[in-house]
Amino acid sequence: MSTAEPSVFSRIVAREIPATIVAETERLIAIEDIAPKAPVHVLVIPKTEAYANVVELAAGDPGLLAELVAMAEGIAADRADGQFRLVFNTGESAGQTVFHVHAHVLAGDLQEGTLAA
Ligand code: 5GP
Repeated sequence: MSTAEPSVFSRIVAREIPATIVAETERLIAIEDIAPKAPVHVLVIPKTEAYANVVELAAGDPGLLAELVAMAEGIAADRADGQFRLVFNTGESAGQTVFHVHAHVLAGDLQEGTLAA
């Protein structure tokens, strides 16, 4: 039996923690980042927490990664001009704080300093 606590994103998927939901499909959820770093800053998150980061997701379910990219594109088209930066922090020293894979969709008049999310 696993004793691991569900991730913060699993708790959002389960509606145990509130979030502003931007889009949702059977396998993905998109929410507003709680600490936005750009005019559009949305997290696109696979509902499964089986993959800790994008490397694991690409290896384990490339179709789900493609779905994630398509959702990111749709969000950037709806909320900005369709152009966007897609950031996957991978590893603690790269700034990853939640080890349940998620993409940052950054869009809308990005400044030079918005490389990181
Ligand atoms: P990471 O640092 O792992 O790449 O990204 C985690 C992101 O999740 C951060 O940008 C952080 O602001 C966001 N975040 C952490 N906890 C919550 C939460 O409870 N709700 C929402 N909406 N975003 C969160």
